[in-house]
Amino acid sequence: MIKLAKLNNRPEIFHSIQGEGKNLGKPSVFIRLSLCNLYCKWCDTDYTWNWVGTNYVHNNSVRPGYQKFDKDEMIALLTDEEILDTLSDFNCDNIVITGGEPLIQQKSIIPMLTLMHERNPDFHIEYETNGTFVPMSELDALSHQYNVSIKLSNSGVAYEDRICPEAISYFANSPKSNFKFVVDTESDLQEVQDIIDQYHISNKVVYLMPQGSSIDSLRQKQQWIVEVCKQYNYNYSDRLHIYIWGDKRGV
Ligand code: SF4
Repeated sequence: MIKLAKLNNRPEIFHSIQGEGKNLGKPSVFIRLSLCNLYCKWCDTDYTWNWVGTNYVHNNSVRPGYQKFDKDEMIALLTDEEILDTLSDFNCDNIVITGGEPLIQQKSIIPMLTLMHERNPDFHIEYETNGTFVPMSELDALSHQYNVSIKLSNSGVAYEDRICPEAISYFANSPKSNFKFVVDTESDLQEVQDIIDQYHISNKVVYLMPQGSSIDSLRQKQQWIVEVCKQYNYNYSDRLHIYIWGDKRGV
């Protein structure tokens, strides 16, 4: 069984467009898995990990009425077949497996990937991963793209939790990887450069994306991040879904 995030009492599988990174604008079906091993303070999917009884501090904690999530209530357990049946409702080959951190469940999703390829060899499988897990060889053989978002100190996550040298080295050496860094202030740039230098990552596969879950917060950062991308030949990624739907879930 695979643990998915639950939205309106249903598993969070939805047809939309990719809002970020290399495939921005591409029609895609998103499978949102529950659980994450990190605890970013600005995470917009805190319903996948900020469980009742944990000590994690999220920016939303200051919002009146914010409550941590009940783990049992927020997870939907699905079989491979149930997920595949849902995918067949959509006329779309690009599948984004996201979270949370989807590679926490990599062992459980390998049979689903095998079934997917049997049913439709044209499926293109990409992941939104935080880059702290080394993909298993069986998973890699069935996968096409890793959107690796290594977290910086602006996430509030301890260095030893968010930086996994073995996993970063794996992704840095995989032709399937691109790297998406969430940037808040100019002081984040040195951290990005240090990671790129240490793991010999080409600037051509680096995307800088502003941190923010509102149009105003994104706009405040766009211009200076674009200038940095021009200077270093990084790619710029916006968060297109925020402009279209705000921070609404499941769209
Ligand atoms: S790694 Fe991603 S899903 Fe996990 S807490 Fe950070 S932003 Fe959220």
